[in-house]
Amino acid sequence: MNILVTGGAGFIGSHLCDYLISKGKYVSVIDDLSTGFFENIVHLQGDSKFQYINDTILNKDRMDSLIRQCDAVVHLAAAVGVKYVIENPLSSIETNICGTEIALKLANKYKKKILIASTSEVYGKHMHAPLKEDDNLIYGPPSTMRWSYAASKLVDEFTALAYHRTKKLNVGIFRCFNTIGPRQTGLYGMVVPRFIQQALRDEPITVFGDGRQTRTFTYVGDVVESICWLMECEEAIGEVVNIGGTEEISISELAERIKSLVVSKSEIVYIPYEQAYGKDFEDMMRRVPSSEKLNSLIGFVPQTPLDTILESTIEYFRSMI
Ligand code: UDP
Repeated sequence: MNILVTGGAGFIGSHLCDYLISKGKYVSVIDDLSTGFFENIVHLQGDSKFQYINDTILNKDRMDSLIRQCDAVVHLAAAVGVKYVIENPLSSIETNICGTEIALKLANKYKKKILIASTSEVYGKHMHAPLKEDDNLIYGPPSTMRWSYAASKLVDEFTALAYHRTKKLNVGIFRCFNTIGPRQTGLYGMVVPRFIQQALRDEPITVFGDGRQTRTFTYVGDVVESICWLMECEEAIGEVVNIGGTEEISISELAERIKSLVVSKSEIVYIPYEQAYGKDFEDMMRRVPSSEKLNSLIGFVPQTPLDTILESTIEYFRSMI
């Protein structure tokens, strides 16, 4: 079986490639390295089951030949990270909407199974927990660029479901909740790699806002396993499914936890959102997934304890020094 992983040089994508190759699958990756890194997949180069194509998913001809040749697609290529999306709003919207449209159109042309990665951002600014797949979605105005990420991934979800309903395309959608682990970069705003690197350097750990906002972090290994189970699951076709962890933690607690695990001398500092992201920024104050649907579909939920994930990620960053 040959799986095309779009965005396979990214953080989640490269772990997915490792997992698929370890299970004996053939893997093709298309990635333009806009936010991914060749180093993430360099160890797979030379494996006869692996091929890497450095190109954008907006190249329709290239995508046509790759999707024609594969058996299934996992579409992960997207603009990622709040900081990246705010700094590159136009290209982010284009990649997320046009790129997914191309992937879906071609998957439909060749009748290939496709899984589309979405995000917990899609839920918007809820305060209740846990978030269920059929919850209403609450966004701010379009002048607040952050919402363009949620809205663009939501358009991807609508398009995928429309292909399923009107063309019977074999498509599934998964919403990832703050995936973390080794290889994640802090360059695009992600909090865990940023805090770990700050702690390892004894630099100030920068909590944005008052630090009372919460997240539920999910181990990348659990995410990859969930994706692979979903690929095999007939009942997941035409469905939207959360993939998220179980331990809700506030960002200030996270800073304390990382500081103590690293045994760092860092000071924890609080930075106003405006200083961190500029004007017109809105954060999401709470984000906790319901894993009921995932569990009922595949009988698996991400459960790696937060400390275990943080320890392995700290180990990874120590090895990079
Ligand atoms: N955050 C922070 N300091 C940082 C980076 C992020 O306090 O250096 C906060 C951010 O404002 C948010 C949370 O950490 O409340 C998670 O941010 P991230 O960008 O990792 O993910 P997302 O906002 O998409 O959940």
